[in-house]
Amino acid sequence: MNIAYLNGAKCGELTQISLYNPTFLYGVSCFEGVRAYWSAERSELTFLDLGSHLDRLYESAEAMGLPPPVSRTELEAEVHAIISADNVREDVYFRITFYIGGDGSWRTSRDVHYLVSVRSMPSRLADPARSVRLGVSRFRRIPTDVMPPQVKAGANYLNSRYAYRDAVGRGFDDALFLTTDGFVSEATGAAVFFVAGEDLVTPSVDCDLLRSITRQRVIGHCRSSDVTVREARIPANDIAGFDAAFVTGTSVELCPVSAIDETEFPVDHSVYLAVRDEFVRRIVDGAL
Ligand code: PMP
Repeated sequence: MNIAYLNGAKCGELTQISLYNPTFLYGVSCFEGVRAYWSAERSELTFLDLGSHLDRLYESAEAMGLPPPVSRTELEAEVHAIISADNVREDVYFRITFYIGGDGSWRTSRDVHYLVSVRSMPSRLADPARSVRLGVSRFRRIPTDVMPPQVKAGANYLNSRYAYRDAVGRGFDDALFLTTDGFVSEATGAAVFFVAGEDLVTPSVDCDLLRSITRQRVIGHCRSSDVTVREARIPANDIAGFDAAFVTGTSVELCPVSAIDETEFPVDHSVYLAVRDEFVRRIVDGAL
């Protein structure tokens, strides 16, 4: 499945934009990625936190000075309408992008368009072979007072791109960012959690990170079970002392970290498996 709607109307993959388009020239856009899981048993598609993603999209647009081209209510209704219009019956990834459709410069705020695309993205939560090796990046996470990482702006991913290329060049799968003052922040497109004994520790939201909705969901699951989660400023030197690590995000879902730099971690730590099983259970039951 690979479909897209531009300003509410179905469109092809190739859409013309001006040579002087500010999104093309300067990366002026904000977006959200939202997963929906198909249950064959219940014959139902369940969104993972659609409301929180829409909230964050409108917050990003406000922060960037992009007047929303559609109301939140209309957008939510459109997303639901697509499911029946296109008969979505598989795991998918919705990407909703606000961008500038016309001409202008990086200062421009007029002519904001919106694009909703849906493509197949099967869940990999049940894949036991999946893990990721992270290299601590020499590129630091963009500080909030330079370019706020809490805003899900397309251009923020240039910071991720530099770090990713640096880490892959050193033989890792992806990068782990530190803040400019040396605390663990996040991966290039995911939040990070550490296992300390029976507890979880994750960087606090003042560590220049995107307020990951999956991270918040995992924290919520833990609070309603008996796993303690601490949000803290974690010095880079503490990484080697943790028992395990995993990353969370809409696209990556939950994935164990098998190494950070030269520190190896088990990919089947019981605390990680318990957190993952609870995550899966809620999706399977549609109890989100
Ligand atoms: N950090 C960054 C930089 C990301 O791009 C993402 C993916 N959206 C995340 C964290 C995870 O956020 P979420 O759980 O809201 O998808």
